[in-house]
Amino acid sequence: MVSRGRHPKSAVASVLSKAKAGGFIVKEDHNGHRWGYLRCPTCTHRITVSGTPRNPDSHAKKIEAFIARHGHEDRQMGSTQ
Ligand SMILES: [Zn+2]
Repeated sequence: MVSRGRHPKSAVASVLSKAKAGGFIVKEDHNGHRWGYLRCPTCTHRITVSGTPRNPDSHAKKIEAFIARHGHEDRQMGSTQ
């Protein structure tokens, strides 16, 4: 059983809370080995978050790379339209 509310692997949980603080959408949706999703609010791309990653540190790094890729610096610059 995977408990709700917080990711069971602390390395992943801390990246997810960082993502939330950065405005990303964390959707908890357990299904098999899946824990949920992390969604970029700007371009709506998402990444699957595993609840049972074989290597929690590398899974956390993968999520961190997604966050870095979706920084969308133009988000803070104001719209030009
Ligand atoms: Zn994005």
